[in-house]
Amino acid sequence: MEPGIVIVGGGLAAATAAETYRTKGGTEPVTILSADVDRPVHRPPLSKEYLRGDETLEKVYVHSKTFYEKNRISLRVQTTVAAIDRVAGQVVLSGGERVGYGTLVLATGARPRTLQVPGADLPGIFYLRSLRSSQELQRAYGAAGRAVVIGAGFVGMEVASTLTQRGIACTVVEMAPRMWPAIVPPVVSDFVQRYYSEREVSFRFGVGVQTIEGDGHAERVVLEGGEILPADLIVAGVGAVLNTDLAQQAGLQIERGVVVDEFFRSSDPHIYAIGDIANFPDEVGGRLHLEHWDNALNQGRTLGQTLAGNPSRFEHIAYFFSDLFDLSVNMVGYPSGWDDVIVRGDPSEERFTVIYVKNEQVRATLMINDDEHFDAWTTLVNARQPVSSSLADRDVAPLQAVS
Ligand SMILES: Cc1cc2nc3c(=O)[nH]c(=O)nc-3n(C[C@H](O)[C@H](O)[C@H](O)COP(=O)(O)OP(=O)(O)OC[C@H]3O[C@@H](n4cnc5c(N)ncnc54)[C@H](O)[C@@H]3O)c2cc1C
Repeated sequence: MEPGIVIVGGGLAAATAAETYRTKGGTEPVTILSADVDRPVHRPPLSKEYLRGDETLEKVYVHSKTFYEKNRISLRVQTTVAAIDRVAGQVVLSGGERVGYGTLVLATGARPRTLQVPGADLPGIFYLRSLRSSQELQRAYGAAGRAVVIGAGFVGMEVASTLTQRGIACTVVEMAPRMWPAIVPPVVSDFVQRYYSEREVSFRFGVGVQTIEGDGHAERVVLEGGEILPADLIVAGVGAVLNTDLAQQAGLQIERGVVVDEFFRSSDPHIYAIGDIANFPDEVGGRLHLEHWDNALNQGRTLGQTLAGNPSRFEHIAYFFSDLFDLSVNMVGYPSGWDDVIVRGDPSEERFTVIYVKNEQVRATLMINDDEHFDAWTTLVNARQPVSSSLADRDVAPLQAVS
């Protein structure tokens, strides 16, 4: 049998690449090797609807159980790839088995960064990434009255909102002086933090965790400065570490991810990388790696097309979303390093848009409960549109404001 396409990783990028390859007519054997226990899932609901108990398990899976067999995709879960032998064109599994490839796709994503403080190894500290980790947290919060969430990043803020909605008193601890400082201006973080405070979420900003204590089980978080926060439940959302070890050991070029070209080809032309681990050239944003659901989906789709014989460049404006209580947050574009922002609407009405300006061009747009003009904002970011003060006027549609 010809060695075919081997995909390492069982997340959204992997599943979507395999699906698109088949739907676009690819006929080679496809094998997905995934360290996960479960078949590929959408991770966003794991901190939101599914964790809250408002979404069924079936909706969390990327594909139905029968999809893989029907599409002649061999999905091997609980299968960890330990090494890549580029000379032999094989991957080596943790048990020693070798699997040959003609084309290798790396879609190994990321894992939660772990706390590095005394007591961090006590049982009762939760991290979120896999379906199982969400299910464990769901079981644990049923009996909890008070939670401490360490980290006010996306996952931390989403979990704090979910647990609060389930009646658990949450305190969020964050080392930075405010939430999401690299990607939102104070007008946004002030608004969201106030929104949370009105819903009884407490914050401790600008302070780190010193230790976690408890009698055989994590029971309290001690902050620098000595404050003690008792907790029935501790959730850590302190960032993610890219799973680039395999690629690194194989000698591929690594620089904040696996360096790939616009077709996702790594420094070895037989090996591609997609999803969270890919460091790719973006026409508008420059070289990037993005840890977003939409990025994994669209990179998987684009690579699937290329492998099926229709070489496709990745030309896609970055997008991410989050849901925080009843706030629907949507961001298009490239927010980091903005020079200025334009606020369109009034945060006190809980519906507004923030336009990020860099070099006097529209660089990104953050919509809070305000996605009516989503497509227009995407067009303006893509066009690197020079800004106009009329963009602040809610009575003028964005495309009109710049015409
Ligand atoms: C709780 C949570 C909530 C999120 N919410 C949002 C959101 O609201 N909006 C948004 O835009 N993004 C969100 N994200 C981010 C988004 O889910 C990720 O960007 C996306 O899952 C990345 O997909 P991926 O396929 O690249 O990697 P992953 O989904 O991380 O999949 C990687 C896979 O590789 C496997 N693997 C790793 N190493 C090996 C190995 N050596 N051998 C075999 N298999 C291996 C892993 O087991 C896993 O199956 C969220 C992420 C999490 C964890």
